[in-house]
Amino acid sequence: MAKKEFKAESKKLMDLMIHSIYTNKDIFLRELISNASDAIDKLHYRSLTDKSVKIKKKDFEIFLAVDEEKRTLTISDNGCGMTKEELEKNLGTIAKSGSLQFKEENEHKKDIDIIGQFGVGFYSAFMVSDSISVKSRAYGSDEAYEWISSGVDGYEVKPSEMDSYGTIITLKIKEDTEDVTYSDYLKEYKIEELVKKYSNYITYPIKMEVEHRHLKEGSDNEYETHLETEVLNDMVPLWKRDKKKITEEEYNTFYSDKFFDYETPLKVIHTEAEGLVSFSSLLYIPSHAPYDYYTKQYEKGLQLYSNGVLIMEKAEDLLPDYFSFVKGIVDSPDLSLNISREILQQDKNLKLIAKNIENKIKKELLNMMSEEKEKYEKFWESFGMQLKFGIYDNFGMNKDKLVDLLLFATSKDKDYVSLSEYVKNMKEEQTSIYYACGETLDKIDLLPQVERVKEKGYSILYCTEYVDEFALKTIGEFEGKKLVNVSKEDLDLDSEEEKKELEKLNEKNKDLFTFMKDEIKDVEEVRFTNRLKTHPVCLSTVGDISIEMEKVMNAMPVDNKVEAKKILEINNHHPIAKKLEDFYKNDKERLKDYTKILYNEARLIEGLPIENPTEFASLISEELSK
Ligand code: ADP
Repeated sequence: MAKKEFKAESKKLMDLMIHSIYTNKDIFLRELISNASDAIDKLHYRSLTDKSVKIKKKDFEIFLAVDEEKRTLTISDNGCGMTKEELEKNLGTIAKSGSLQFKEENEHKKDIDIIGQFGVGFYSAFMVSDSISVKSRAYGSDEAYEWISSGVDGYEVKPSEMDSYGTIITLKIKEDTEDVTYSDYLKEYKIEELVKKYSNYITYPIKMEVEHRHLKEGSDNEYETHLETEVLNDMVPLWKRDKKKITEEEYNTFYSDKFFDYETPLKVIHTEAEGLVSFSSLLYIPSHAPYDYYTKQYEKGLQLYSNGVLIMEKAEDLLPDYFSFVKGIVDSPDLSLNISREILQQDKNLKLIAKNIENKIKKELLNMMSEEKEKYEKFWESFGMQLKFGIYDNFGMNKDKLVDLLLFATSKDKDYVSLSEYVKNMKEEQTSIYYACGETLDKIDLLPQVERVKEKGYSILYCTEYVDEFALKTIGEFEGKKLVNVSKEDLDLDSEEEKKELEKLNEKNKDLFTFMKDEIKDVEEVRFTNRLKTHPVCLSTVGDISIEMEKVMNAMPVDNKVEAKKILEINNHHPIAKKLEDFYKNDKERLKDYTKILYNEARLIEGLPIENPTEFASLISEELSK
C-alpha cells in the first residue's frame, strides 16, 4: 500500500516534535491518555443517552503496558474507536481548526508558540518514538484498521484485527542518546510516576500490569514474581477534590492539559456551591489572550459536566461575552444528560449557575485589582479591550457591572488607574474626569489640548484603543463626575473673568473669523481659545462625534462616512494671533494662506490627512522664502 503524505501543517508540527524543541518530553503520555479518556467519554455519553449502547461505566478502562525487550509502550482504551476514515482524518492532519491560518500569521514567531497555542496532542508521541502504530475499531463496527507511521515521510492505513472496539496505540521507543534516556519510558515506575503527576484526575481507571516480587512461600531467600493489574490514578476529578489538598502544579497541569495553554494561568477559581442549584466549578483566567481571541473564530464557553459526565464541550451560555476569556469546567448533578443547546438556553438551573459564576469572576477580578495590582495589569493588557467592548455593547446594558474593572493609563505617570482611584485623587476644584484619545501614549502627551489641563494639575486618562472613547461615552458619568474629552469645545477650565475676556476678544474679531471660516469650508467655526499654552492652533469638536471617532468609523468598510464637527481654535496668547489681526486689516491674500496653513497644521497634529498636501507644501515654502 502506498504511503500517504501528511498535510503540510501537520508535517511542520511533526518536524518540530521530532526535533524536539519542546524540552518536556514526558508530556506525550498525558496527551495520549487524555485522548483515550476523551474517546471513552464519547462512548460513555452514548451509553447514557442511547439505550441500544449497553456498556457499564465500570467496564471502561485505559490500559498501559511496557515491553523492555521489544522497546514498546502500549496505550489501549475501550472508547469509541475510529473508523478507517477517522484514522486518516484525525491522525493525518491537525484537527484543530484555524491552525493553518495561525501558522501563516505567525510564521515569524518562535516555534514554541505554535505548540503552546495548540497543545501538542497525538504528535507529541513522536518525541519519544521511532514509529507509532494505532490500531482502532470503531464502536458498532466489526472492522479494525491500523495506522502506521515512522515520522515525517508519511503514514499507511491497512486492515487489521481486533477482538473488541477501542484503540491500541503502540509506540516503538527510541534508542537512548547521550542526552536522553528514552528507556525510562519502558520502566513501570516511570510510567506510574507520570500518570500520578499528569493524569491522576482522569475519571476512568488507568491500569498497568505491574510485576510484584515477593518471597516464595516457606522460603526465606527465594523470590517469585507475578504480574498484578494495578490502578495507577485516583480517578476523582480535580474539581471534586478537596481544595486544600490540591497543589498549584496540579491545577496548572489540569489547565494546560484541558485547554492547551502551556503558560500558567493568572488565576484559578475553584468553587463548590450548594443552594437552589448545586455545582462545582473550576475556572481559570488565562495569562494571555489566545491568538484568535479578538476574532470571530474564537468560541467562548465552559465544559459542562453532569455528575462527572461531559455533556457539552463549550457551553457558551455559562459565560457573558465580556468574560469570554475564562476557561474552565462546571459540573452539576442538577442538569439533565440529554440536553440540547436549545433546551440548555432555557434551563433555569443553568441560568442560576451562570449568574453565580459571573459574580464569582467579577469578585475575583476586583480582588486581584486591589491586592495583586501587577497581575491585574497583566490581565488588563490581554483582556481589557473585551471589558470595554462589554461596556458599550447592548447600549450600555452592562456598564454598571463592568465600570469598576476598568483601568486607564494617565497623563501623570502613565501608570494605570481605575476610575475610582482617579476620582479619589481629583483636585478639590476639579469637577470632571478628563480623557484624551490618540494613537499612542506619547502622541497623546503631545496633543496641544492636553497641555492646559495638565498645567492645572488635573490628571488625564489616556485612551489608545479605539473602543476606549465609545466605552467612556457610554459610561458618561462616574460617581457624579462627568467624563470629558479634552478636545471637546466646552472644556470649561477658565475662570469667569477669563471667560468674559475671551468672549469679548472673540466678539471683537468676529469678522476676521468669518473671513477665515470662508477659506476652510469644513470647520463650523474659527475662534480664539484659552485652552492652548504653547501651540498656536488646535481642533476641537462639537456634538457627539469626536475626531478619534471619525477616524475609527471611517476606517471601517461602510459607505456612510461620518465627520466630526470641528472648530479651529487659535491661541490668542501666541504671536500668530496678532499677525492674523494685522493681515485682516492689511493683507487679506496672506491671511488666506495663513488660514490654510494653520488649519492643515491642526489636522496634522490630530493625525488627520490633509486634503491637498502639494498646496500645503508650496504655501509653506512660499512663506519660508519671504
Ligand atoms: P486533539 O486530541 O487535541 O483533538 P490529537 O492530535 O491529540 O488532537 O488527536 C486528534 C484526534 O484523533 C482526536 O481529536 C480524536 O478524534 C482522535 N483520537 C486520538 N486518539 C484517539 C483515541 N485513543 N480514540 C479515539 N480517537 C482518538
